[in-house]
Amino acid sequence: MQKVAGKFDVIVIGAGVAGAAVIRELSKYNLSAAILEKEPDVCFGATKGTHGIVHCGFPVDDAPIKNRTEMKGCLMMEQACADLDVPYQKAGKLLVAFNEEELRALQKALVSLKRNGVPGVELVTDKDRLRVMEPNISDQVIAALHTANTAVVSPWGLVFGLIENAVANGAKLYIDAKVQSITANNESGFLLQTSAGSFAAGYIVNAAGLFAGKVAGLIKDNSFVVSGTRQQRIVMDKKIEGIVRHVVRDLRATGAHGDFVSPTVYGDILLGAKVENVPEVGDLRTTREGLDGWILPRCRRLIPSLPPQMSIKPFSGYIPKAGADYLIKPSPVNSRFINIVLGGSGFSASLAVGEYVVNEILPSVGLQLQKKPGFNPIRKDIPHIHDLTDEERAELIGKDPLYGHIVCRCETVSEGEIVEAIRRGARTRDGVKFRTRSGMGRCQGGFCGPRVLRILSRELGIPVEQVTRKGEGSTEVLYRTKELLKEAKGGSK
Ligand SMILES: Cc1cc2nc3c(=O)[nH]c(=O)nc-3n(C[C@H](O)[C@H](O)[C@H](O)COP(=O)(O)OP(=O)(O)OC[C@H]3O[C@@H](n4cnc5c(N)ncnc54)[C@H](O)[C@@H]3O)c2cc1C
Repeated sequence: MQKVAGKFDVIVIGAGVAGAAVIRELSKYNLSAAILEKEPDVCFGATKGTHGIVHCGFPVDDAPIKNRTEMKGCLMMEQACADLDVPYQKAGKLLVAFNEEELRALQKALVSLKRNGVPGVELVTDKDRLRVMEPNISDQVIAALHTANTAVVSPWGLVFGLIENAVANGAKLYIDAKVQSITANNESGFLLQTSAGSFAAGYIVNAAGLFAGKVAGLIKDNSFVVSGTRQQRIVMDKKIEGIVRHVVRDLRATGAHGDFVSPTVYGDILLGAKVENVPEVGDLRTTREGLDGWILPRCRRLIPSLPPQMSIKPFSGYIPKAGADYLIKPSPVNSRFINIVLGGSGFSASLAVGEYVVNEILPSVGLQLQKKPGFNPIRKDIPHIHDLTDEERAELIGKDPLYGHIVCRCETVSEGEIVEAIRRGARTRDGVKFRTRSGMGRCQGGFCGPRVLRILSRELGIPVEQVTRKGEGSTEVLYRTKELLKEAKGGSK
């Protein structure tokens, strides 16, 4: 029998945005809590691919939990980002109409938003005003529903911020900890066997995203099935920063993530999205039909001056869901095991989901909560050279000269930032990339990639051949060429 690596009041399985929001909320209370993640870093699941648009709570039928948490989560986001030093921009959204029929649909949507108490909404029918708000919008647009609270946020920044703050307040994080089996014992809770040892927990929160059904199956809970949709999209160079100020979205599109052109907190522009049901769950391929045949023409219908040659990275993500509404409830097999499966706007809802799970659901099944007097909500991000004034840069470089050595030229990322990212938990090239943005610019890591590999190798004390892009099966250096040459020479003797 494996030694128990940790015994906790609550264990959260899965370090995406849902698990991160739950563990941060738990860290506000006097209890022991841990989060287990199967990957070598946090935010490597669906959340890694999110657009980071914070929707304001567009009500849909048969989804009361989604409607409630999305609106509340949106209203919580600004303060949380301020506390956690996460890039946030209240961009607002324009949902546009091209004809009278669409205008009538916008009028209906406005009534529905107001009835649901969504603040900051108005219908803009003055075309001149619309063009002042969004100068590059198509001449064919006749009206737009403006939701002022829609925001854009760094999706990775939020997860890193929530988890770092939870850990600073006493929670524990275990990476490379895949939950493989769970034994339930009605008196003391659960015993979990993982790839990082065994753990005991009084309560479990299953936030395993696409794998939540499999994890629930470990306690023989087969009450739900997780499926999902693939979304393809395109990142455009920050050279066209400012081409849109709002998230501009086509009313024709279905679902929360149809055709849109969006600013990001980093200046690049996101185009999306080709949303599809694909036969293989988790399929992340992109297709020419999706990118050139769907996204580009549809986005140029909204913003005709969009230059296709400014596309720097096409990619896709997979949104897990378990029905029309979010699934957030105790398992029918064991009420101390809480299942969470979000959906299309799960990122927006995440903070409210964390609060709902910790303050309502867990107490309703017996968890005692007592506020932790010393809880500190503040966390500081890695200092980013790119965002500092000349004086601030000089001061930082004076303290640590590594901040004066630029490794990623496209995004102006210094060696100091990369070393700090590793100190905070990055073990892979993606871990560094999502914490610092090295490799996210126009050259997509062509210049800085090998340098980042060498820094990871040096700081982690492992050979460069063992450094991976995102964990097992993704090593980037296969051989040292000189050794191959030596071998070849040896072979020819
Ligand atoms: C392309 C795309 C764009 C999106 N855009 C938006 C948007 O703009 N706005 C918005 O609000 N929402 C958006 N969403 C939706 C949102 O991203 C998701 O709802 C949300 O990220 C789901 O988070 P999660 O934590 O539930 O899942 P995940 O992020 O997938 O986290 C689950 C974690 O559990 C881990 N795990 C799985 N099994 C185990 C195990 N056995 N042991 C330990 N760990 C395990 C996984 O490795 C993973 O890290 C988008 C989604 C996609 C894919």
